[in-house]
Amino acid sequence: MKFEPTQLTSSEVELQAEVREFLATELPPGSYQRALGMGAGKDVEFSKKLAARGWVGMALPKQYGGHDRTAVDRFIVVEELLSHGAPIGHHWVADRQTGSIINRFGTEAQRERFLPPICRAELAFSIGMSEPDSGSDLASVSTRATQTDGGWLLNGTKVWTSGAHENDWFVVLCRTAPLEDGNKHQGLSQLLVDLSSPGLEINGIPFLDGSPGFNEVVMTDVFVPDELVLGELGMGWAQNTSELAYERGGPDRWLSTFGIIEEFLRLNEGTTLGNAAHDLLGSAVSRYWGLRNMSLTVARMIDRGEAPAVESSMVKEMGTRFEQDVLQKVVNLVDLEPTPESAELFERLVAAAILTGPSFTIRGGTTEILRTVVSKGLGRKATT
Ligand SMILES: Cc1cc2nc3c(=O)[nH]c(=O)nc-3n(C[C@H](O)[C@H](O)[C@H](O)COP(=O)(O)OP(=O)(O)OC[C@H]3O[C@@H](n4cnc5c(N)ncnc54)[C@H](O)[C@@H]3O)c2cc1C
Repeated sequence: MKFEPTQLTSSEVELQAEVREFLATELPPGSYQRALGMGAGKDVEFSKKLAARGWVGMALPKQYGGHDRTAVDRFIVVEELLSHGAPIGHHWVADRQTGSIINRFGTEAQRERFLPPICRAELAFSIGMSEPDSGSDLASVSTRATQTDGGWLLNGTKVWTSGAHENDWFVVLCRTAPLEDGNKHQGLSQLLVDLSSPGLEINGIPFLDGSPGFNEVVMTDVFVPDELVLGELGMGWAQNTSELAYERGGPDRWLSTFGIIEEFLRLNEGTTLGNAAHDLLGSAVSRYWGLRNMSLTVARMIDRGEAPAVESSMVKEMGTRFEQDVLQKVVNLVDLEPTPESAELFERLVAAAILTGPSFTIRGGTTEILRTVVSKGLGRKATT
């Protein structure tokens, strides 16, 4: 594992300034519901405006509607959006990972069909990995696709499928060949599945704060044509693992609660802060800066064509603990019982973080699993 220090180039700093200017015009303070990182809401029009600026599907090829930009350019845009608490929910998953895996593993027809609408922020994707009995041990998924005339019949249940109730498609990890020799990693495939397919039922699961977002997706003989098998049959595990690298190493894994610190400072502008607040700010800013540089390094590695699965896992493990620690320290510092309905933005953000914070170290892979990925990665390298 290596995290080579890196800095933004002058053109990258220019991009950062452009995004800040765009956000100051489009979403001035008070004009929108500022929210916590990727938990921010969905605003289709806002996503389309971003797309019109060329900031959705940035790193995808121009020939499919993308912009031939880099993972670092995307990092810069995403960091600004998340710091601003902007409503990125509509295009989030497609922009972060689905577009990239379709570009990498998909057929020419799949690229032509899916990438242009993703880049225009017209197509929203969900992630169909977890199942009622398969979360951390993802290779044990029991959703099964069996071959039929011209395609596959999909049967099984996915769970915790964020956004399935309002998104258009999801990528389903499923078993397309029976288990042989107990090797769970073989015989898995990824299918592109229309969330409005006949036989597919979406049941909402309210989140801890009562909001919709989570879903159970039950599939009974859902027909998926051959042309919607993503990548190579049986290579689902390897593809899925590379998808997780996009999912784990970005600013969304360390920025969820930083807005709370900013609001705390705004609220206390002009007052003298005590030692406990100074300790909090000092440690939060220094950890933030370290994580940011690690995460930026992951983006540079992606741009060099590397597959930083271990480094991404490290960023997520450290980043999500940081998000929770920041919250805990703020809660210890201020004497209040915040409610989601409070008139004060700071209190609303703290309340939302208390209710959603426990999920930070679960979603996208739990802390224990990430530590396992990192230690196995280090072990492998140590023996070569
Ligand atoms: C907010 C949120 C959004 C989500 N969105 C999606 C989504 O859109 N699509 C999707 O597919 N999934 C989604 N998930 C599911 C998420 O990926 C899983 O919850 C996660 O992978 C853990 O799986 P599990 O819930 O089955 O827990 P389990 O795997 O049952 O784990 C329970 C506990 O046991 C520990 N544990 C399990 N195995 C080991 C081991 N080998 N060694 C040590 N400890 C272990 C875990 O760390 C955890 O603490 C989401 C989850 C959350 C919280």
